[in-house]
Amino acid sequence: MTIFQKIINREIPASIVYEDDLILAFRDIQPQAPVHILVIPKKPITNLAAMSEQDCAVLGHLMFHISQIAQAEGLTDYRVVTNNGAGAGQSVFHLHFHLLGGRAFGWPPG
Ligand code: 5GP
Repeated sequence: MTIFQKIINREIPASIVYEDDLILAFRDIQPQAPVHILVIPKKPITNLAAMSEQDCAVLGHLMFHISQIAQAEGLTDYRVVTNNGAGAGQSVFHLHFHLLGGRAFGWPPG
């Protein structure tokens, strides 16, 4: 079981900022920006590469709520990132989107 499944199950604590039947959003334990929130589907999809067409609705829902959470956090400029696979920096194998804001970001990313 991943650490994020344990957060969904309330087996370990997290600073939750939004939750509904389909998704959960909580603050990253090691923030890389003043605002760093992880937004995950409750369905245990490994990463973007593992999503199926059936997941389109939940991921559309998730993206909408990222924008709502960003607005609630007072962000107008922000970055949304998903790391797909260990080589891209994925360390938790439950699909998640990083919402990062509150500072300037460089491009290309590291
Ligand atoms: P990844 O490297 O897979 O894209 O992102 C995983 C993220 O999960 C990292 O930014 C890491 O700080 C965060 N993380 C890992 N374990 C925990 C935890 O137990 N609680 C919270 N809130 N975040 C975690």
